[in-house]
Order: sequence, then C-alpha cells, then structure tokens
Amino acid sequence: MISELILKWYKKNKRDLIWRKTKNPYKIWVSEIILQQTKISVGSKYYLSFIKKFPNLESLSKGSEKEILKIWEGLGYYSRAINMLKTAKTLVKNKKKFPSNYESLIKLKGVGDYTASAISSICKNEKKAVLDGNVFRVISRVFNISAPINTVAGKKIFQKLTFKLLPDNQVGDYNQGLMDFGSLHCTIRKPKCKSCPLKNLCKSYKLNNIENRPRKIKRTTPKKERVYNYLKIIINNKLLIKKRSKSDIWKNLFELPLIEGKEIISKELLIKYLSTLFDSIKINHFQLDKTINHKLSHQNMTINFWNIGITVRKEKKNISLLNIKLKSIANYPFPKPILKYLNDYLNT
Ligand code: SF4
Repeated sequence: MISELILKWYKKNKRDLIWRKTKNPYKIWVSEIILQQTKISVGSKYYLSFIKKFPNLESLSKGSEKEILKIWEGLGYYSRAINMLKTAKTLVKNKKKFPSNYESLIKLKGVGDYTASAISSICKNEKKAVLDGNVFRVISRVFNISAPINTVAGKKIFQKLTFKLLPDNQVGDYNQGLMDFGSLHCTIRKPKCKSCPLKNLCKSYKLNNIENRPRKIKRTTPKKERVYNYLKIIINNKLLIKKRSKSDIWKNLFELPLIEGKEIISKELLIKYLSTLFDSIKINHFQLDKTINHKLSHQNMTINFWNIGITVRKEKKNISLLNIKLKSIANYPFPKPILKYLNDYLNT
C-alpha cells in the first residue's frame, strides 16, 4: 500500500537528475558515493566533473590519487575517493566489470549496505531496502517509531520494516521515490502533511507527534579542538607545499608547512620549525595574515595563516617539500580552507 502511494508520488514528482537517466552501475556508484557527502545541488557538479574525467571503470583505474583527490576537493571524507580508485584498479586488474548485484557490490572496498542496496535495486531491481536520513524520517513518522535511529537496535527495527514494505517490482524507483519523498515532501521542518498521500496511514500525523520523529540519542562526546598554523612561504615566486601522509584528517591532500597546537607562534618556535626544513635560513618577517574557524564532524579547528618571508641558503635533504609555481596551485588537491585562502591570495 505504502509502496503504491510512493511509486505514484514519484512518477509525478521525480527529480530530473542526470544519473537517473542511466542504469550503468559504475555511474550510479559514483553518484551514490558523492551524494553521501553533500546535497544534490552541489553533488551534481561533482558528479559531472567526475564522469567527464573518468567516464568508465577503465579510465578510473588508470587515474592517480592526485587526480581523484583534485576532483573530490572540498567534498570531505577523502578516503572514500581513494577507496573508489583502489576498487577500480582491483576490478580492472582482475578483468572484472563493475558489478550490479548486491552480493558482489558489498564485497567492494568502501561499499556498505546502503550503497550496495541502492545500486542493486536501481540497476537490477533487486529487493534491497535503502535507509538514508530521508527514509528514516518518513518511516519513523508513518509508523510512529520511537526507537532511536542512531543505535544498532534501532537500525535493525527500521531495516526489518523497510524490507517488508518493498514492492515486488520497481524496487529501484520505490527506493528513490521514498528518498525523494523524504527530501521534498516529508521534510525535517514543516512537512506538507495536509497534501500528503500518506496522511491517512501516518500515525505520527494522527497523534500529532511529528516533531518527535525520528528520535535520536544525543551523543555527548566533546569535539576535539585543534589549532593549525599554516605558513605561506613563497621563494622565487614558488610556494612551498607538502603532502599530508599521517593517518589523520585530509590524508594524501596537500597543505602548507604546518605548526600544530599553538595559538600564536613566536619567532623562536618558527626558527625551530624552519630549521627542520632548511639548513640555513634567515627570517625577514612573519605576520599573522588571517584566522578562520573550520568545523568538521568531530573537530573544531582554528586555522591561522601566516605570511613568512625568509632567505634560504640550503634546503634539508629528505624533506618532502614541493616548490610549486603559484599558477599551478590548481593542479594540486588541497583541503577546502587552504584552497580558499590560496585562491583569495591569488585573486587579490
Ligand atoms: S502526513 Fe506528514 S509526517 Fe506523515 S508522512 Fe505525510 S508529510 Fe510525513
């Protein structure tokens, strides 16, 4: 019953999205991974650049980490892009096509239940239920479910129920319809209940309990506070950058030389740090140029950008610094705040 109403609603209200014009599992995979990071309007642009650069599995398998991170720049969760690259390389090496069935999809690196269910139901109409934030909201409201959606036990309840509700046919359309319905009609704030095709079935609506659904348990883990001091050092019209290699945020992206953990850096600290990079230097000037606050899901960052003027006599060996021409900044993937800072600098 619900599936019929959702399919009917979807037929009328379906969003015209470019990846909905294909059943190619590779392209659906790209769209699904991108949309886990961002909203549709932003994701569409990333999807188009991705498919332009890597139109199929073979082209992606030949790509480099730097190229995929450049396309992913600004999306966050960069390990997802790296996993996509690894997956493509492995599949092509083993002479395999990109799969479209759940059983093979779930074995791929970086593909979880949601992505495997979405791809297999869209491409093959496999009877797999998808559970994203929109689906949780619609189902929790229609059935007035009090189980929290961010606990293992709560998720199990929703998984069972969403599976039961699947139609026998048009599973892909139904799954996409349910997600669209949550995003456009049964919205977080001000759902359109009066004109809702599900209102006669919706328990929360009848009980006037919509505001309490879905339920989430509040997590109280405090966010980690971090202070980053980035040093903008330009020598002979070339900018010093380095690749982040530690298992931390922004792994494998590029950044400016960094002193972490101090609110304000002193000349002594700066000399100490720079002497790890160069054998012989003279500091001509250093000023704080800009401070920004950057929020990540588990961290609050204060980022200071410093203008540093130095005279270098000799760079230390074995230091992974790169001297890049200012105009080639666009060839390197940077975390969003650094990219913005550098672009602002180049455009002033
Ligand atoms: S009646 Fe309101 S709360 Fe219930 S499904 Fe429709 S829009 Fe959502």
